Amino acid sequence: MKWDKSYDAPNKDYLEVAQYLLSCGFVNLREYYFIICANDSDKSDLPYVVNPYCNNRLEIASDYDEDYDNPIMCDLCERDIFPDTYKKKRYYSLAVTINHLKVMEWFEEQLASLNVTWSKVKIGVYYILVEKNFVNLIVPECCSDKSYFAVDKLRTNPTALITFNKESLNPPLDLYIVPIADLMCKCKTLNEVLHETIEKGVPELLPNVSFQALNCYSYIPLRKTTLPEKKILRLKIIDNIIYVNDVEVISKQATASIRIFRVLLKQFLRDFEAAEEYKFLSVIQIADSLGIEDPEQQVRRPLNRMQQAIAEKLASTLGVNIERDDVIQACNWSGYRLNPSTINLSAN
Ligand SMILES: [Zn+2]
Repeated sequence: MKWDKSYDAPNKDYLEVAQYLLSCGFVNLREYYFIICANDSDKSDLPYVVNPYCNNRLEIASDYDEDYDNPIMCDLCERDIFPDTYKKKRYYSLAVTINHLKVMEWFEEQLASLNVTWSKVKIGVYYILVEKNFVNLIVPECCSDKSYFAVDKLRTNPTALITFNKESLNPPLDLYIVPIADLMCKCKTLNEVLHETIEKGVPELLPNVSFQALNCYSYIPLRKTTLPEKKILRLKIIDNIIYVNDVEVISKQATASIRIFRVLLKQFLRDFEAAEEYKFLSVIQIADSLGIEDPEQQVRRPLNRMQQAIAEKLASTLGVNIERDDVIQACNWSGYRLNPSTINLSAN
């Protein structure tokens, strides 16, 4: 079982593990149902499908009742879906999110139970004296101070990374990496990890990593670190399709979304011309300019969906470090705008 992931149709074993972790307080769970906009197995819905490639997952309440509830709208295709009439297949999913605080409490209890002297230097960074040896343990997902990932620091003492997600780490050093799940499942004891770290000694540099690069940055590309160089996203609109870095992020079918996007673009250009600050527009201002009556449903919801869709598409195709706010930036109090720090307009 992986941390921080949604499980579609989880089997009994997964559910048991999830329930167990929940009872320890290590994770939060959220069960939900969803339908897929264009799903080949939904035969009765096929005649109404707008975009046969739309795999938009639309959440549906477990007690959804077509007689009383509104139809479900796919905001990418702008179509209403009647899940009962169209006999839409419903899927069950379980979202698992980590409660880092609780897991770290558990981890520190394990440390405290050992016969060692340890100190917590920063959240997620521990210096430990084992007999006469110093060992550093770092939990990268919990450590926000990236200076601890600088090669020089990692090479002062034998160091191990205790991680929630081994796959996301790609350190340039031959560091000892231990999934925290191994400790929880008692595949390994913390005592063993400490002694193995000492045995391995100070981490070696990996042979094919450039030395110069190593001295300038800190090296562990965690999912949430921002790239040191400036991120530039080229925005282009051709034929009412919105592209970012040549990836189609909003398709032509999403006409309502595109209208909203154009309102933001217009404001962006106006501010650019006036050389003023880039203003946020509230959902009400956007709704007024489009003659829309329900700003929450018809403006905020599509905006949120666009943010999500853009981030997902860019992350999956470009594989770059994309944040939800990179193209459409939201500010709780002021509204939305195109993000002036990343967007670069490009001619067709
Ligand atoms: Zn759709």
